[in-house]
Amino acid sequence: MEIKIQKTTAPKAKPADETKLGFGHIFTDHMFVMNYDAGQGWHDARIIPYGEISLSPAAMCLHYGQEIFEGLKAYRTADGSVQMFRPDENFKRMNVSAERMVIPQIDEEFVLGALKQLVEMEKDWVPHTDGASLYIRPFIFATDPYVGVKPADHYLFMIILSPSGAYYSTGLNPVKIYVEEKYVRAVRGGTGFAKTAANYAISLKGQDEAHNQDYEQVLWLDGVEQKYIEEVGSMNIFFVIDGEVITPQLTGSVLPGITRKSSIELCKKWGMKVTERRITIQEVAEAYDAGKLDEVFGTGTAAVISPVGHLKWGDKIMTINDNKIGAVSQKLYDTMTGIQYGKLPDEFGWIFKI
Ligand SMILES: *Cc1c(COP(=O)(O)O)cnc(C)c1O
Repeated sequence: MEIKIQKTTAPKAKPADETKLGFGHIFTDHMFVMNYDAGQGWHDARIIPYGEISLSPAAMCLHYGQEIFEGLKAYRTADGSVQMFRPDENFKRMNVSAERMVIPQIDEEFVLGALKQLVEMEKDWVPHTDGASLYIRPFIFATDPYVGVKPADHYLFMIILSPSGAYYSTGLNPVKIYVEEKYVRAVRGGTGFAKTAANYAISLKGQDEAHNQDYEQVLWLDGVEQKYIEEVGSMNIFFVIDGEVITPQLTGSVLPGITRKSSIELCKKWGMKVTERRITIQEVAEAYDAGKLDEVFGTGTAAVISPVGHLKWGDKIMTINDNKIGAVSQKLYDTMTGIQYGKLPDEFGWIFKI
């Protein structure tokens, strides 16, 4: 499929102060769009000026939430070139999400090429400041003007780009989280493994209550017994117990993070013992009491590695590693960001150059 290009006639000024970018507020000059119509498939791939879209008030995505998305970044290296980290994994995962949400499959090679073309066009928008990057948001949603419940026949696939600031402006700061015992995020047979808006809508109430109590995030337990640890908001979770790296296995209710996968691959390469298995909050608390809970950290594209310094479960408050970043967390962070920004060699073939 050919990609039509329509360039903006009114390019926006690039942000003057990259230290004030924040996350997800500013968008570049262009976006990628293509349509899907039943019987015709995906068509009309185009790169057009970034702008508002028109939708019927009856558009199905607005009523029943048939939507999926992805999140990845483009990084500027010291020599000025631009590169992405494992973007093929994002589109592979997008098709897994699509299958669950009865959204038509996309051609992974094609959309990767389209993304490359879009980022190439917008490369001056990729920030130069260390730690800052161009956040990439591909998404698909149902557009049929119909308020009946069924999988849609019409969809839009879009990619928008947002220059974003360094997640940690003052270094890797450990976060405060608590174990959520009232609400659940995902259940057996549900959509936990899919990157879909619904999972976030469900999580907002717990998130809001956590913020009101001065906590950054909640740690979700499984939705059936509320015993087994699943993940944190938009991050997967890891524990280092007595030198062993443990992360919840992918049982269908946990999002299969690419940072999670990369962290497992790196730890294995370093000869560490890494285990993917079910782990209860009880086990974590017992390890803490025995002085064996060395580190807890979250993994995700936004923060890469987010050390947990303070974990609350009911009345029990666990202060992990003296509220300081641990050795494994630091090494993962340094290695992953080193590869992303081109400071370290790409031994795994994770880098996709623009
Ligand atoms: C996107 C996401 C993650 C992290 O995945 P990465 O591919 O590492 O960015 C973790 N949990 C949830 C719920 C997510 O949506």
